Amino acid sequence: MDTRTLDAVYAFWQNAVQARDWKDALDFLVTSLRQQLVFDNLAIYTVDDETYGDNTQIAYARAVGREKQAEADATWGEDIAARVLENDEIITEFPDNPEKMDTRVAQAYLIGLPLKISGKLIGALVFVRFGGPSYTTEQARIASLAAIIVAYIFEKRALQENIAQLEAVQRQMRLQDDFVATMSHELRTPLGFIKGYSTTLLRDDTEWDDATRREFLTIIDEETDHLTELIENILESARLESETADMNFQPLRVDALVRDVIMRVTTRHKGIEIVFNSECEQPIRGDSTRLAQVFENLFSNAVKYAPNTKITVELHSTEETIKIRFCDNGKGIPQEHLPYIFDRFYRVPGNPRNTGTGLGLFICKRIIEAHRGKIWAESSPDQGTTFFIDLPIK
Ligand code: ADP
Repeated sequence: MDTRTLDAVYAFWQNAVQARDWKDALDFLVTSLRQQLVFDNLAIYTVDDETYGDNTQIAYARAVGREKQAEADATWGEDIAARVLENDEIITEFPDNPEKMDTRVAQAYLIGLPLKISGKLIGALVFVRFGGPSYTTEQARIASLAAIIVAYIFEKRALQENIAQLEAVQRQMRLQDDFVATMSHELRTPLGFIKGYSTTLLRDDTEWDDATRREFLTIIDEETDHLTELIENILESARLESETADMNFQPLRVDALVRDVIMRVTTRHKGIEIVFNSECEQPIRGDSTRLAQVFENLFSNAVKYAPNTKITVELHSTEETIKIRFCDNGKGIPQEHLPYIFDRFYRVPGNPRNTGTGLGLFICKRIIEAHRGKIWAESSPDQGTTFFIDLPIK
C-alpha cells in the first residue's frame, strides 16, 4: 500500500471517529474513497435484527459515477449482498463476456464485502463499477478497509441510538417522579376544599344563611368539576398513550369547529381578545370532540400562560392539508424547553403560572397524530408562542 493510500485510510478513520453524524461520516468516506478506488455506485445493506438473515434493508446508497442513478434505487446490489451475507465472505462479480455487451452500463463489475461488529455479521457493503476493468488485489484490500470503517460507523450509530434511548427513558422516569408529587398535590387540593366545605355545611351547631350556603356549595361544585377534569385528563392521556382511545371519525369542517370552541371560550373568559381568520371550507374526516379538545387546551394554555394578550387563530388550506396557526403574545417558552413541551407530564420549570399537569399538550399531540397530522410550536422570548397544526384533508 503506498503512502498516499495510507494517508487516505488514516483520514477516513480520523473522520469516522470524530464525526457526530453517521451519514456525514459515510459521505466523507464515499467521496474521498473515490480517489483510491474507482466506482460508480455504492450501497450498504443491513440485516434486519428481528428477521436475522432473511431480510436486508438499504441503509445507505450513493451514486457517484458517470452513470448516476437515483440513490435510493440500489436493487442492483441486492443479489450480491444476499450472497455475501449467506457465505460471510468477499464476493466479486464481473460480466462473462464484456466485449459482447453493447452498452457500458450493462457491464457491471461488483464487489461485495461483509460488514461485522464484534464478529457479528450486520450487513454488506457493495461497490459497482460500470465498464470495468475488474478490481485489483490492492483495490480489494482498500475496499476491505472501507468495510471495516463502515462497520465501525454503524457500531457508533448503534451506540449513539442506545444512549439517546437511555436518555429518553431517564427523562421519562424523572417526569413520572415529578408527576406523582404533582398529582398528590393536585388531587389533594380540590379534595381538601370539598371535604372542608361539606363538613362545615353539615355541622349541627351552626346555621348558615342562604348566601353563604350557596357560596360554599359553589366552591364544592367548582372543585368537583376541577377534579373530574383532572381525572379525565389522566385517563385520556393513558388511553392515548396506549392507543386504546376510540376515535369517532366523521366528516367535519375545522373552521366551524374552531368557531364553536371560540364561542365557548369567550363565554367562559370574559374580555378575552380572539382574532379568527379562516380561508378554508373543505371538510375533513375527524373526531370532532377530540379536535375541539385540542383547541380548548390551546386556549386554556394561552389564558394561563399568556394572560391578557391577543390570541390569533388562522386557518388556510393547500390541496392536501389544512394549516392552522395559533398565536399568543405572551412571555413565550424558552428555546431549551420547546422540544419537550409535548412530552407527557412535561411542565416548563420555573414558570410561576404552572398549575397544570403537563398533560394538555401531550393529549393535543396524540389527538393530532391520530388524525395523521402534525403539531409543533415556535416561540421567542417576550414575543409569544405560535402553535402550528397540519391536518391532512384526505
Ligand atoms: P400544563 O397542564 O402544565 O399546562 P401542557 O402540556 O398544556 O401542560 O403544557 C406544557 C408546558 O408548556 C406548560 O407547563 C407551560 O409551561 C408551557 N406552555 C404551554 N402553552 C404555553 C403558552 N401558550 N405560552 C407559554 N408557555 C406555554
